[in-house]
Amino acid sequence: MRILALNLCTMKPPLIYFDNAASTPMPGEVVEVMQACMMEVYGNPSSLHEAGRRARVALEQSRRSVAKCLQVEPSQVFFTSGGTEANNAILWACCKDLDRKHFITSPLEHPSVLNTLESLARHMDARVHFVDVEPDGHIDLAHLSELAEQYPRAVVSLMHANNEIGNLLPVKAVSGICRERELLFHSDTVQTIGKFNFRFREIGLDFAVGSAHKFHGPKGVGFMVVREGLSLKPFVSGGGQERNMRAGTENVYGVVGLARALQWMQDSMEANTFWIKNLRDLLIKSVREELPEVAFNGDALGSCLYTIVNLSLPPRIDAATLLVRLDMEGICVSSGSACSSGSLAGSHVLTALGGDPQRPSLRISLGKNNTSEEVLRFVAVLKEILAVTRPPSA
Ligand code: PLP
Repeated sequence: MRILALNLCTMKPPLIYFDNAASTPMPGEVVEVMQACMMEVYGNPSSLHEAGRRARVALEQSRRSVAKCLQVEPSQVFFTSGGTEANNAILWACCKDLDRKHFITSPLEHPSVLNTLESLARHMDARVHFVDVEPDGHIDLAHLSELAEQYPRAVVSLMHANNEIGNLLPVKAVSGICRERELLFHSDTVQTIGKFNFRFREIGLDFAVGSAHKFHGPKGVGFMVVREGLSLKPFVSGGGQERNMRAGTENVYGVVGLARALQWMQDSMEANTFWIKNLRDLLIKSVREELPEVAFNGDALGSCLYTIVNLSLPPRIDAATLLVRLDMEGICVSSGSACSSGSLAGSHVLTALGGDPQRPSLRISLGKNNTSEEVLRFVAVLKEILAVTRPPSA
């Protein structure tokens, strides 16, 4: 393990990591608290003895810390294995336990929502209604209101920020539409937790979800936030952990790392946001100046998460070649839905927006560790790649 770590660190030049929407590096502070927890907190939090009680304390302290960051009660936070499980658990429970049979969603959602809704339609006779989307990737709110009128007991499932194009949902407007009737509002907030000051109650959400590895925490741990008064049955059968909402022994050191990472994001939010927004602006400006053939997918220049820029490239190069060429230069970005499947399948998001399937796309997702030098190097490398792939007649 030590040799592997040395090889990884010393044999390769430093990477330019522009795939922060797929996963993020963990800072020393987070690794340290996790290491200490692994060494010292080995009991099962359900055990009644001292070792178990110590694990329980670590778990509940973490819950309180997460709840404080999100401005909710600790009793509203339920730890899971990540965003995928949280989305599945919420949607299944809405259908099975809360007897909601209509779901309003968009074709731009993450597969953990779209595939779950497909399963609910197949196995639970649920009906799924798709809200129209504008060409720039924003939800048609007038159509959402119409659907809400038609299905007043539906569950609205719309993500806060799209993980491919970064478009932001006007969550308050959507919750307003839901509140006028009896609709429940679930928002996949995986890409936005830790990036905004989140006021769950003020926004008016019924369910939100988080995934630690998207905000500089460990992989394989996340949470769901559930509005007070709503009770869900566990998604998998087992013990009564997480106050009967999520069976299975808790991932204590993962949860401890998650809480530390979220606190760390919270403490440095202003500085991080300022830093990343400047990088994003530099990227957009440089692309416009240096690469006039490159367009922006979604609403990059408008209501968009400040960490994501999605580029639409000229059709003479294919996505796979482009990714390999960038990878050879040590630049990590993603294309299409590669972040979830590792494949280069075309993006369901861009397809739904009527994008030209011949034009490859690149998602650049920035983080607090990136620098302006990296941004400029990326643009220079991309320019070189596009120049050598120029057709001879051009
Ligand atoms: N939802 C969104 C918007 C995501 O971007 C992701 C991860 O890519 C997930 C859900 C799934 O989260 P996890 O990796 O924790 O399962």
